[in-house]
Amino acid sequence: MNRQKPLFFDLGFFRRSIQQKIQYRPCTKNQQCSILRINRNRCQYCRLKKCIAVGMSRDGNP
Ligand SMILES: [Zn+2]
Repeated sequence: MNRQKPLFFDLGFFRRSIQQKIQYRPCTKNQQCSILRINRNRCQYCRLKKCIAVGMSRDGNP
């Protein structure tokens, strides 16, 4: 598996999203948002997607 650098600052967000089954509003930009530290709250849909993409498992463990 491609091990990218974990997004540590997103672990809390990710766990909360999974455990509370939060449904974020779908992305309005083709789900192509860049998730940067400065704008990570702009699109939570892409942010969650990014978490999954880097290999965080759905039960909340990195
Ligand atoms: Zn987005």
